[in-house]
Amino acid sequence: MTPRASRISHPGLLLLLLFALASCNSSSDVIALEGATLIDGSGGEPVRDALVLVTQGHIQAVARVNEIPVPRGAQVVNVIGKTIIPGLIDSHAHVERWAAERYLAWGVTTVRDLGASSTDSAIALKNDFDLGSVLGPRMLTSGAMIDGAPPTYGAATAVRTPAEARRAVDLRAVAGADHVKIYTKFTADLLRPLLDEATTLRLPVAAHLGKIDALTAARAGVASLEHMAGVVAAASRDPTPYLRAHDQFLRGWTTEEKGWAALDSASLARTARGLAATRVAIVPTLVVHEMLSRLDNPTLLSRPGMEDVPASAASVRDVAGLLRRTGWRTADFQAFRRSRGRQNQFVREFKRAGGLIAAGSDAANQLLVPGLSLHEELSLLVAAGLTPVEALTAATRKGAELLRADSLGRVAAGKVADLVVLDANPAANIAATRRIAWVMLRGRILYPDSLRRTWTK
Ligand SMILES: [Zn+2]
Repeated sequence: MTPRASRISHPGLLLLLLFALASCNSSSDVIALEGATLIDGSGGEPVRDALVLVTQGHIQAVARVNEIPVPRGAQVVNVIGKTIIPGLIDSHAHVERWAAERYLAWGVTTVRDLGASSTDSAIALKNDFDLGSVLGPRMLTSGAMIDGAPPTYGAATAVRTPAEARRAVDLRAVAGADHVKIYTKFTADLLRPLLDEATTLRLPVAAHLGKIDALTAARAGVASLEHMAGVVAAASRDPTPYLRAHDQFLRGWTTEEKGWAALDSASLARTARGLAATRVAIVPTLVVHEMLSRLDNPTLLSRPGMEDVPASAASVRDVAGLLRRTGWRTADFQAFRRSRGRQNQFVREFKRAGGLIAAGSDAANQLLVPGLSLHEELSLLVAAGLTPVEALTAATRKGAELLRADSLGRVAAGKVADLVVLDANPAANIAATRRIAWVMLRGRILYPDSLRRTWTK
């Protein structure tokens, strides 16, 4: 025994050591959530009288009440009459710093960021969340988007050659990005080198397509189709007008959005089956399609939930600016609204074909309130034909699958302790996801009212 070790035998220190050892096994850091109905994210039916044990930021055990003992000294929280769901995952977000606590207040504990600013500032924000220096959701980010030339947004990286495409992926891998996002002007000739590099570096590729049809991109190996972009081109006999319209971003969006209404059921179903067979995921963001089809309705700017958006958040509030830039008129909105039925039908067909659907909001774009808009997406997914439990799965386990993050998206032993406690059961009515009693993030309980006080004071 070394002299150093023998000094520990001093009675006071020994006591301290014993205490330290004992506290490792004590139950004082266990939280027991007792008596709720549990929708665990797996896609299974709700389980009544659930017991969830949480310790050190993780879920230790999930059982029925009285099936396993609650450790002595555990903090027992009575959640009888409540419903527990996993923390929600927004699979399509453009995270702005002001929105961090809004996500949490709405039960969104993970966001899949698809590029808003520079790669470095996105990574800095993610690090702030992870370190706890800013209270916010878990964030996985693409860094800046990769676009064709000229890029739609100045913050994106424009690529013209295979070498530039590879380099853009490399730079993101080095910076610490979790995935890669390609945008509407990215061209088909660069798909192979980009995907080759991304595969080598194990970065999944999210695609908001414009100049490539969805089947071509999915067969080449992109991980997800954002907004279902490229589906109209894939389902049309002649995709050229759609691909060409994307020379200019808004013209591309407008042409494609109207194009949905021209598709017939057989082409839609065939395209959905073809896409599902490639294992590509879709993030439909029905809430974007819905909001843009109702941009002429001024009451949306004052709907409940908009009070969460600061006056300075132009990205959400600048509807007038978007209307000016697009020049959209009543006839355009009518055409967009006619397309909504076909978009819903595509979601149904894709589901029927076994495709992976993940819920995403596209906040903080126009009218899309960070957090709230994911709940609106859930309601729209149900309106499109998913069951409430399937919609919830799209915002939990399916989102985790898309992120390749096995510890997220479910309330099960070994997963992280991110969950939402609701005052009502969303399996009966999906709108119940908005009735949030409290949220657990990394094992810590957060109350929406307390979070709201931090930004309304
Ligand atoms: Zn987006």
